[in-house]
Amino acid sequence: MPGFWSVVGRSLLGRCPKCGKGNLFARYLKQVDHCEDCGEQFGHIRADDGPAWLTIIVVGHVLAPIWLWVLPGSTWPEWFAMTFWATLSLVMLLVLLPRAKGLFIGLIWRNQAH
Ligand SMILES: [Zn+2]
Repeated sequence: MPGFWSVVGRSLLGRCPKCGKGNLFARYLKQVDHCEDCGEQFGHIRADDGPAWLTIIVVGHVLAPIWLWVLPGSTWPEWFAMTFWATLSLVMLLVLLPRAKGLFIGLIWRNQAH
């Protein structure tokens, strides 16, 4: 069994938490049934709402202080500010969501909590 931080690192990169070589996802958020390298089974692990919850928590805690700091003195036109912040939020969500799902799958696998 790999160490806790190895599992965290491999899972965040979308790699098999056991061997670190095979992919954890077949598509954007579609997890593989088993690792193509070591054969470890992942199809039965369900992360459910955990990754979405973690992603929202992280993005909200990163962006909310920036908004409170930047927006009061902003001279940006409203249309630009709304477009910019919405786009930045969306990009952060799309980047973090598969990493959060990988993390949940890896930790559920390591703790045999499925
Ligand atoms: Zn593997």
